[in-house]
Amino acid sequence: MMLTVATQSFAFEPSANPVAEAERAKMLIDPGFGRVFTDHMAIVRYSEGKGWHDARITARQPLAMDPAASVLHYAQEIFEGMKAYRRPNGGAALFRPEANARRFQASARRMAMVELPEEIFLDSIRALVRTDKAWIPDSEDGALYLRPFMFASEVFLGVKPAAEYLYIVMASSVGAYFKGAPSVSLWVTREYTRAAPGGTGAAKCGGNYATSLIAQAEAIRHGCDQVVFLDAVERRWVEELGGMNIFFVFDDGSMVTPPLTGTILPGITRDSILRLAADQGITVREAPYSIEQWQADATSGRLTEAFACGTAAVVTPIGSVRGAEGGFTIGGQSIGPLTQRIRESLVAIQRGTAPDPYGWVEEIA
Ligand SMILES: *Cc1c(COP(=O)(O)O)cnc(C)c1O
Repeated sequence: MMLTVATQSFAFEPSANPVAEAERAKMLIDPGFGRVFTDHMAIVRYSEGKGWHDARITARQPLAMDPAASVLHYAQEIFEGMKAYRRPNGGAALFRPEANARRFQASARRMAMVELPEEIFLDSIRALVRTDKAWIPDSEDGALYLRPFMFASEVFLGVKPAAEYLYIVMASSVGAYFKGAPSVSLWVTREYTRAAPGGTGAAKCGGNYATSLIAQAEAIRHGCDQVVFLDAVERRWVEELGGMNIFFVFDDGSMVTPPLTGTILPGITRDSILRLAADQGITVREAPYSIEQWQADATSGRLTEAFACGTAAVVTPIGSVRGAEGGFTIGGQSIGPLTQRIRESLVAIQRGTAPDPYGWVEEIA
């Protein structure tokens, strides 16, 4: 097979069995979230002594793993989530990919894993999106969700940071994360916490999700869409959802979001909203906000809106909150004016329907 080069650093081994165009078109009509995968993946290996090597764009395929690969025992695994958006001109664009590259490095440091150089991270994303750009849905909420991840692949049962890692990027054609409902309902878990001071709450590691699934299941059992976590020490400060940060909106037009104290994930959507809000004259305080205050403010009408944010679900209004002690609703249980404004200005920059004064968007194909 002819070997062409996808980028300077990534060799290209085209899939021998790509999905036919007509079949792909069918798959993209209603892709859901995280079920439709593209033809290729990016892969790079690391071993002590050799460094990063063997960078390829290759057919998406199962991995052969030794049962002693240390990730299977000690869970050294981190990931990222980002999107490639269809541009009005038919091309593709990334949103703040350097921020994902840097967060990936920060997650690696926390998990005592080797740090992937930013240039390799960015090249892997660009090369994969160029290769599989036909998989970006054209629909309004559609995007190519990119999932870079890295894990310890060393075959060794001793407890120590691994000396070998595998870095992979997959791509998945996605539609809206929450379909249909005008807002989501939250369950306040009192039994489980997500992250403690000194723990891994600020790292994007699979382990954080493993420990949050039981709380999410509790939320579903109580008829709620998502779980919201309180802090692990006082069990009263609102932290975040299982995979989204949170903002509170008040009747004076100001907002509050929990501060980055090490127990919540520093979301790139959160950071972008802080910047957009500041530039639109909205006062935002990064300050602790308690569940009691939230209930009191929602009941008195001082709190008018609340929303969750993240790459997958963008900006999602929160309509109601329930816990063992009862619950409360927020505004009209549909998207409020400030949430709408923030959402629209963010999405317009990401999708190229408004100018990008921040240099956040990288057009790649
Ligand atoms: C990824 C993630 C977020 C959102 O981060 P974005 O960069 O905005 O996508 C929030 N909370 C958790 C726990 C996450 O894993």
